[in-house]
Amino acid sequence: MSFSRRDFLASTALGSLALGLEARGGEVKKSPGGSAEAFPQPGSGTSKRPIIVCAHNGLAYLDRAYEHLTKGGDTLDSAILVVTGPEDDPNDDSVGLGGLPNEEGVVELDACCMHGPTRRAGSVGGVRNIKNVSRVAQAVMQHTGHVMLVGEGAERFAVAMGYPRENLLTERSRKVWMLWKEYHSGSDWWGPGLADPKWQAPDAKSDKPQAALWQQRVLQLTDRAADLGIEEEFRLAAAYRVLYPPTGTIHCSALNEKGEISGITTTSGLAFKLPGRCGDSPVIGAGCYTDQDVGSAGATGSGEENIKVAGAHTIVENMRHGMSPQEAGMDALKRIVRNYNNDMNKLRFVDMTYYILRKDGAYAGVSLWEGYSKGNPHKIAVHDGTKRAEETAYLLKGFSESFPPLPKIPAELKKDSEYLK
Ligand code: ASP
Repeated sequence: MSFSRRDFLASTALGSLALGLEARGGEVKKSPGGSAEAFPQPGSGTSKRPIIVCAHNGLAYLDRAYEHLTKGGDTLDSAILVVTGPEDDPNDDSVGLGGLPNEEGVVELDACCMHGPTRRAGSVGGVRNIKNVSRVAQAVMQHTGHVMLVGEGAERFAVAMGYPRENLLTERSRKVWMLWKEYHSGSDWWGPGLADPKWQAPDAKSDKPQAALWQQRVLQLTDRAADLGIEEEFRLAAAYRVLYPPTGTIHCSALNEKGEISGITTTSGLAFKLPGRCGDSPVIGAGCYTDQDVGSAGATGSGEENIKVAGAHTIVENMRHGMSPQEAGMDALKRIVRNYNNDMNKLRFVDMTYYILRKDGAYAGVSLWEGYSKGNPHKIAVHDGTKRAEETAYLLKGFSESFPPLPKIPAELKKDSEYLK
């Protein structure tokens, strides 16, 4: 565990955080511990345009989008040039093609967008078989009198708009899903069954210590990954995804020289989710919100938590009332903390990053926790003539933990898998 309750208490004083939330309301210039120096506040900048701000997985696609923007391209089209990068990439298993599927092995995608200059919005949820749902959300905005289409209707609309049906499950994501099915098959019949030479009786009667049992379990998973044909260097990462179903998403906001601004968010959502589950990404006001008078914000992280605080809308409204982008984002994060009554035993399993861009070009990236682990901070990507990644400012010192709570994967098994967070 990278964060301990004692560390938190020692470094920030839980009491002062609680008091701060109650008493200071929106005033968030200081760190949770009350000391302005305690946390350097990277991930924010001021007033340069044109500018694009996005999630870190958009970094590789910022050049093409920035060029489009500076040549007079529309702000939403520019943002879409960023997010279609990961949507088209079969190796990004959090978005579009290759996204990890729902519990039935079907990829379901969500997206929403807002176009500042025309003050319009579009959204799709739970869409199957269509890769570029960001463009479909834009098409809902441009070609219907509606704002949101879901499920089969959204898929049929996409086909009518000329988007091809395609299989979004790559061989890799199918195998990871198979591994997930097998891991949970104590209560169904997805194997390995009794007749399988590798079947083993449950560990319960073993006299091995818990740590050894856990190691054995992880090794069994990587063994099954090998049986399923998952390449060696990805086996442990596949086991990790099975044990701790990941989320992953991309948001992008773009602002041109004239001050026009738009935003978009797209995702495959939570891996192995219930069919039909929509997180925050297709919800206008949660996963994305843009107001031409103020600015734009978007989110990645625990979707259910973000819906409850209407994160993106809250941030834009905060900026409307005078908060800086960073203050506005920190206030939304505090609302998430408040929803759990500051209970760090629960909050350590929640994480959230907000990408915030004000109409004058000031921006911020803020996150609930520092990152996933030491050396793995949350980052945003920015292009304002210079393309770069920046660490976010964070509300809570320490690192979020993967859900559900399980023993950690033993360090000796980890080696240097680049796919592990
Ligand atoms: N917010 C997304 C969701 O809950 C996932 C993520 O951003 O990682 O579907």
